Amino acid sequence: MTDSTVYGAWQRYRSVPIIYRIATAFVLGSIIGVVVGEPATSLQPLGDLFVRLLKMVIVPIVVFTLIMAARNLSPQNLGKVGGQVVLLYLFTTMIAIAIGLGVSNVINPGVGIELDQSANVDPGQAPPLGEVFLNIVPENPLAAMAEGQMLGIIFFSLVFGIGLTVVRDEAKPGSTMETGVESIFNAVEVGTEVMFKIVWGVMEYGVIGVFALMASLFGDIGIDAIVSLFKLCAALAIAITIQISVVYFLFILLGLVRKSPIDFVEGSRDAMMTALSIRSSSGTLPVTMSNADENLGIDEDVYGFSLPLGATINMDGTAMYLGIATIFAANVVGESLTLAQQFSVLITALLASIGTAGVPSASLIMMTVVFQQVGLPLAPIAMVAGVDPLLDRLRTMNNVTGDLAVTTLVAKWNGAIDFTTGVWPADGADTG
Ligand code: ASP
Repeated sequence: MTDSTVYGAWQRYRSVPIIYRIATAFVLGSIIGVVVGEPATSLQPLGDLFVRLLKMVIVPIVVFTLIMAARNLSPQNLGKVGGQVVLLYLFTTMIAIAIGLGVSNVINPGVGIELDQSANVDPGQAPPLGEVFLNIVPENPLAAMAEGQMLGIIFFSLVFGIGLTVVRDEAKPGSTMETGVESIFNAVEVGTEVMFKIVWGVMEYGVIGVFALMASLFGDIGIDAIVSLFKLCAALAIAITIQISVVYFLFILLGLVRKSPIDFVEGSRDAMMTALSIRSSSGTLPVTMSNADENLGIDEDVYGFSLPLGATINMDGTAMYLGIATIFAANVVGESLTLAQQFSVLITALLASIGTAGVPSASLIMMTVVFQQVGLPLAPIAMVAGVDPLLDRLRTMNNVTGDLAVTTLVAKWNGAIDFTTGVWPADGADTG
């Protein structure tokens, strides 16, 4: 092949939208994993590299966009947006758990499966929930950034951004102090743009990364594990389908935002695909933010705050799965949960999901909290762990979609979304 044909092929490859290339890698990787089996797991490091590259940009992107959010919003408006975001996050999570419990009560996952007493369970220690709230205030902001403690980073960046606006507003017009603050804001704005450019560079590598992650997944868990826990997998898949298509699409997007869910999916698909591939809502955050900014036309005042917070506390897929897994465990040990017990599962799963880190398989740790609450043994956790690399993808995708749906709604309520740009129809007209 001559240089020009190689270059031509490369150009043709690059002209295909990145999401299609990644989706193709997703499918091909899965097929190769099933066909090749165990040896395909040796591709895992190539996938890990993709995840590391994404993680590299999380802290700067969050710090920069939050400082920009503080530049544009007054503390009162920040409080208003924050309140709406948090309430909607809690509301959608509660619905998700109720849907998960409802579907499980019909499908009854776990019935007919014997408890594997020999299964060794060491899911780790769940953090006390009080500590989660205390961690919002970092003792040392640099340590919070170094350790990637999202709530601490959010808090400090907002306080720092508000501090900058106060200094600017108190400074004499034209003073060095005022121009100094403006140049910090300008530099931060440039920093945000640079980070988004890096995200798209990382996504180019994502084609290889996603292929490797999927091949390694199916090389590892195999189809047998999925077949034996079919009802558990089906319960989660059905509950997620209801949550996304009814709660996000019909209720939030068509009902409240009055926009087409299809446009929303088009705008969010990179984030949804990345979440499916890497199983981490925190790791997906740079892509989620970039989709909110560039495709959905949302102002950074809103998404700069709501998305990092959502990646930390809003886990609809996770919360719903905690409910489903509890019914599964009860069925495996031959117990049935009363309505009152299921209500306590709802509350515990809500709190546990807030405390769940946005990292792969974090739910398995939080399951201990919910199981203990209703007096179930922990052994079934080891049974569900076998299919977790698969189920984790679905719930992470749900988690990220929930963050974006709520952010779109709050942005609409606060006039912080431009429906004439990105994926929205050019006239900006409402569909409803
Ligand atoms: N992997 C999920 C996430 O990052 C958390 C979980 O459910 O395990 O959102």
